[in-house]
Amino acid sequence: METLILGVNDIEKAAGIILKGGLVAMPTETVYGLAADALNGEAVASIFKAKGRPMDNPLIVHISKLSQIDMLVSEFPEKAQRLAEKFWPGPLTVILPKSHRIPEEVSAGLDTVAVRFPSHPVAQALISASCPLAAPSANLSGSPSPTTAAHVISDMDGRIDAVLDGGECSVGVESTVITLAEGTPKILRPGGITAEQISAVIGEVIIDSAVTQPLGKNQKAASPGMKYKHYSPKAEVILLDGDDDKFYEYIHKHSDDKTAVLCYNEEADSFSCVKIPIGAKNDDAAYAYHLFSALREADEKKCSRVFAHCPKKEGMGLAVYNRIIRAAGFRVTKL
Ligand code: AMP
Ligand code: MG
Repeated sequence: METLILGVNDIEKAAGIILKGGLVAMPTETVYGLAADALNGEAVASIFKAKGRPMDNPLIVHISKLSQIDMLVSEFPEKAQRLAEKFWPGPLTVILPKSHRIPEEVSAGLDTVAVRFPSHPVAQALISASCPLAAPSANLSGSPSPTTAAHVISDMDGRIDAVLDGGECSVGVESTVITLAEGTPKILRPGGITAEQISAVIGEVIIDSAVTQPLGKNQKAASPGMKYKHYSPKAEVILLDGDDDKFYEYIHKHSDDKTAVLCYNEEADSFSCVKIPIGAKNDDAAYAYHLFSALREADEKKCSRVFAHCPKKEGMGLAVYNRIIRAAGFRVTKL
């Protein structure tokens, strides 16, 4: 199929494609999503096919007004309401018991559904002109998530009906996923809203161990997406944990002309290999914003290895750590 490239004035056209059961990649504040009518099981199934996504990895349903949640969930507990009031629209996904209207394909056989109200005006306009949209990130399964329409095209050209170009995504990593379906609220994936922000609103929050560690042999993933290899460019990602001097020393020793370094703006002059800036030192939100496009850039520049700073495991740093540790196959080199 030919993939149409639509602009922000083509919302009606994009909505028409969705309502006929088609697939449209849309910008959100986190990353580009690959959207289909969330209540049309057949349309949702085609998302999995286009991405090569395992069928047991459920999708997030996106809404554009709070009242739409009623048709998606069977319960909307008080803590979820408080989170919605504080963080929606925004990069927070809440998992709740699902309603009978949610197709099997969306929830991948679970009895819960993940719901998010994005803040991006183009995503909101598309949902309002069509219906609630099931949407995972609009990349081929396993590769870095797309933060521009060009990234979407590079993975999905010919595999989807259209991409709606709304420019660069402002957060750069996916939403925070929290389950409120049972027991103490638990973060299954860190993202644009930090654990610290959430706990200020609802009190105790647990962070699932799979956020920072590989699953144990007999351990079951609370969020099925956590068990898959993820976010990986073709280049090997090597995460370096140590102070700046040791970082420079290690890279000088181990780099060649096929090596890229994800570097802070301040240190760009310190390297002779391919440099890909990720913002100012200690600015974890900037690291998040640049991360996926930096990993894609390393591939575009035909690098075989990428060295990267190991972020701190707090605030937005935890979201970056969660992605890059998977891109690096859970290996951290201690300096
Ligand atoms: P993505 O495909 O990148 O948008 O990621 C969606 C994430 O949300 C994946 O990690 C899914 O496994 C997770 N997810 C979606 N729905 C559920 C659910 N009902 N229960 C647990 N995790 C979910
Ligand atoms: Mg994804």
